[in-house]
Amino acid sequence: MGDEVDILALMEREEGRKKLVRGYKILGFEENPLVPCRGVVAKLDAELGDVIPVLFLMNIGKASYIPGEKVLTIREGGRLITFYPDGRVSLNRAWTEEAARRALDDVVKMVNEAYAELLRYGPPDEEELRRALRLSWKDVLDVLPGENCGKCGRETCYSFAIDVLRGKARLSECTPLIKSWERTSKARERLGHRIARALGL
Ligand code: SF4
Repeated sequence: MGDEVDILALMEREEGRKKLVRGYKILGFEENPLVPCRGVVAKLDAELGDVIPVLFLMNIGKASYIPGEKVLTIREGGRLITFYPDGRVSLNRAWTEEAARRALDDVVKMVNEAYAELLRYGPPDEEELRRALRLSWKDVLDVLPGENCGKCGRETCYSFAIDVLRGKARLSECTPLIKSWERTSKARERLGHRIARALGL
């Protein structure tokens, strides 16, 4: 029994080590005088400089990233979330404090998932980031089988490529692609392994 407790405690400690962020402090709410919108600014309890490039790659297609400043904005659940290297986060559509806290809890989860990815695969290299910044629907289309078979629920590979890039579909939904080892390995090679994974392959 004693051993079991120790193992559980060890597992919990190990899980804890994988978390970069444990909490946040709300710095204030912002009203937009031009539109009926309320936003919140918070400070997470960790710096985000190392994790922001990983967050960008994990959210490719729905993110806009300024590499020089390491400032990242992600469209998620109908709102814009901006991450700054010093740990600040701002998000819009936070109508009440309760809604803001719910959204911030999701942000903490998102950052910790990116941190786990960083621990597992290391930081992205410059070439990966350059590729990700230039990624277009054409790059996605080029790795698809081009059969226009509709098995992904879209009429054409082109529509599917657009949806993948917008984060509305995953490459794994294209069965002719994932059923072929040759096609998937070529796609991973062409897109880059981390980008392919972010797009669902
Ligand atoms: S399932 Fe794949 S091959 Fe078929 S239309 Fe969709 S993207 Fe194209």
